Amino acid sequence: MKNVRMIDELREAVRASRASEERIGLVPTMGFFHEGHLSLMRRAVEENDIVVVSVFVNPRQFGPGEDFERYPRDPERDEALAKREGVHYLFSPPEEEMYPGGYMTAVEVKGLSGKLCGKTRPGHFSGVATVVAKLLNVCSPDSLYLGQKDAQQAVILKRMVNDLNMDVHVEIMPTVREEDGLAMSSRNRYLSPDERAQAPAFYRALLEAKQLAEEKGGSVLPVLEKFKNRLASAGGMELEYVELVSCDKLEPLDRIEGPAVLAGAVRLGKARLIDNVLINCERL
Ligand code: AMP
Repeated sequence: MKNVRMIDELREAVRASRASEERIGLVPTMGFFHEGHLSLMRRAVEENDIVVVSVFVNPRQFGPGEDFERYPRDPERDEALAKREGVHYLFSPPEEEMYPGGYMTAVEVKGLSGKLCGKTRPGHFSGVATVVAKLLNVCSPDSLYLGQKDAQQAVILKRMVNDLNMDVHVEIMPTVREEDGLAMSSRNRYLSPDERAQAPAFYRALLEAKQLAEEKGGSVLPVLEKFKNRLASAGGMELEYVELVSCDKLEPLDRIEGPAVLAGAVRLGKARLIDNVLINCERL
């Protein structure tokens, strides 16, 4: 595995692979790897000749007062894990390489970026779309690997790729969870031991609501009520939002008739946790 910090160097490496018709996979990340990240790398290694994993804690997707400075980082451990998965290039550019002085452009997927998490994180999804568009331009991969854990992000990036005619296949991989159901996340590091013990109740509440939605269908209200009641009875978590939305446009639904996503965000101590479950479908 080669560590690359400069865009030109990565372009050069990828150009040579492309010339010999090798398939290229890209896994964009913010590092501090867990099994969720590794599952994307594994799939990318299976499906491609060359795999690029980017590690970039992207300042443009953090709002003022968010956790950019304290976001967990461990470049040495990340390097060892990526190497073990058979990744070919680990791309960790310095901030000035991605956003040099005079940088002005942003990508915005209007209509999706203000929904769900976008209501409390203005600018976040524009930051995500911008950095992923740049990474796609730098390494022009055949396939882009994303996690369902960040469902809104995946839907937005799929929309961007379609709308801008980017020639890349988007693969959305299932959420990898701890044994007790908590979705793996670099931010779980912020949980105290007591909070960590409470956190799986979030997923359990989502699962109970999913079961009701799939068994009964009909109005969304009892499904949201069930989730809220279960979350409240677990205690400790403050609900930011829970919504049952369509898979492509993320529009809130009144009735459950076809595929949908039940997505939510909660605050637990210093951590903000997000999670989601799919209703009446297997993949986003
Ligand atoms: P991050 O480093 O948190 O920005 O995540 C990088 C990629 O890994 C994104 O596509 C995430 O959706 C994905 N990812 C994060 N956590 C998980 C998880 N628990 N299971 C599957 N994919 C995940």
